[in-house]
Amino acid sequence: MSNQKTSVLVVEDEEDILALLHYNLIKAGYDAECAADGEGALEAIAAKNPDLILLDLMLPGIDGMEICRRLRGDESTREIPIIMLTARGEEEDVVRGLELGADDYITKPFSIKVLLARVQTVLRRRGALQQQSDTEELVRGDLRIHSGRSLVQVEGESVDLTFTEFRVLEALASRPGWVLTRYQIVNAVRGEDYAVTDRAVDVQIAGLRKKLGSCGHYIETVRGVGYRFMEGL
Ligand code: CA
Repeated sequence: MSNQKTSVLVVEDEEDILALLHYNLIKAGYDAECAADGEGALEAIAAKNPDLILLDLMLPGIDGMEICRRLRGDESTREIPIIMLTARGEEEDVVRGLELGADDYITKPFSIKVLLARVQTVLRRRGALQQQSDTEELVRGDLRIHSGRSLVQVEGESVDLTFTEFRVLEALASRPGWVLTRYQIVNAVRGEDYAVTDRAVDVQIAGLRKKLGSCGHYIETVRGVGYRFMEGL
């Protein structure tokens, strides 16, 4: 592979936005490709596995959701980071997209600066996730989580969590900065006797925050979408 540049595929049917993104990605040093519809996107992905995809959800023909579903269902494309481009007020779509495996989303209209920062963050997170070894301990700021022993410490003091609370915390803390929908959190806990509903997730989070005390704010609410563990601790 002689080309060292990170390649980004932009999928967007609005010409102005497509051109703007293409121009700025190239300027920022990326190798940028464009597709104006779903079919074109799938062709471009098959031809040249991009390192990241900026995916508009509302596309003529095969829409962004369907692309997301297909990419995540295919071994060869499962790991490609996807940032959804959504319109304001499309929280339900954001939730669906995240559940289909998109990494993140950005709401239109967006500033190029913010978008480029988001691209970098998602690439970095993906890299970190791949590097994350099988160590059983997560250390985030003043919080220490030991999976093997279901042990949590805040500033060195053990905290008593229920099993469900522990699993919820583990799911969030293992992917700082990633938004998890309630359903994804339910899934992370599933398999236990405890039946977890969306509403129950909110209750678990409220309880967790309280028990985590000075680290409670590490769990952030993403309005209309879900929860996220604070990044950069
Ligand atoms: Ca569109």
